[in-house]
Amino acid sequence: MAALKNKDFCITILGSGSATPAPNRFHTAQIVSFKGQRILLDVGEGTQYKLLLYDSLSPIHKVLITHVHGDHILGLPGLFFTFSLNNVERPVHLYSTPQVIEWFFIFKEWLTVPLSFPVHTHVVPLDKKTLLYADREMEIFSLPLRHTTAAVGYVIKENIPPRKINPDAIRKFDIPYEQLKLIKMGYDAVSRGGKVIPNENITYQNRNPRSYAFITDTSYVPELAEYLKGVTVMYHEATFSGQQSEEANLTGHSTAVQAAQLAKQAQVKLLLIGHISSRYTEPEELVKEARKVFPNTFLAVEGLKVWLEIDKIWLQYPDGSEFSL
Ligand SMILES: [Zn+2]
Ligand SMILES: [Zn+2]
Repeated sequence: MAALKNKDFCITILGSGSATPAPNRFHTAQIVSFKGQRILLDVGEGTQYKLLLYDSLSPIHKVLITHVHGDHILGLPGLFFTFSLNNVERPVHLYSTPQVIEWFFIFKEWLTVPLSFPVHTHVVPLDKKTLLYADREMEIFSLPLRHTTAAVGYVIKENIPPRKINPDAIRKFDIPYEQLKLIKMGYDAVSRGGKVIPNENITYQNRNPRSYAFITDTSYVPELAEYLKGVTVMYHEATFSGQQSEEANLTGHSTAVQAAQLAKQAQVKLLLIGHISSRYTEPEELVKEARKVFPNTFLAVEGLKVWLEIDKIWLQYPDGSEFSL
């Protein structure tokens, strides 16, 4: 087994199916572990069992839900009920659309056992990309999607240290040393000769921040490419095969080919496809279709772990197979 350099950013697929149940595919749910924080992305039925199987039932810091459809939310009451039985006290931050937050308050009212922990709810704007959360380690954004009900996607992005000063450039442009503090803060510099030197000409970024985008359920929205530019790994729904593009459009979903097109436009490094309709008994066929457009496409299956290391992406499938790039 390959040595792990950075075990601080991992996505585990808990459910990869679409709305209709399929024998081996559960409703949508994923857990992201990032520098000690546990973030649940959608909570389809059975999420708590899959957490137990592939991860753990440790408390969750944040729950990000895309939309109010049952295949994305119905695992939440069971999970919160279990947390209360376990006397979890850590507060949970719940982010979602107005409909999901409203539904949460209704089920909370009817739970037979009061929740043992506070839930802080955050209604996500539906009309524009929005920064929902930021700390020293990460930023979380929401993106508007196009579905049959209000839906949002999420991007979890690593916060990396500010740009570093390039000493050679400081000498070359003859910049007084008193300005170094301001340059570190992102300001442009002024040379001794009075010339303004843009910050990016005298600083450099060590590397690109690692990021993960969770895009489901949605029609193909090419404009999303602009928001998703340079994302490391994107999960995108691929409910249908390319032959069913009309049906995909009518039902507010995407085809595998469309998911691949968006991955290509956004220049992501790796695409995971899931939310595949139960009519496809061989979902690998959809991966083949997508790979014709975007070769680095992989299938999301229950138990798959995706490690975002500093210099590589590493996939571990539950059957023991591994890939890295
Ligand atoms: Zn769905
Ligand atoms: Zn839906």
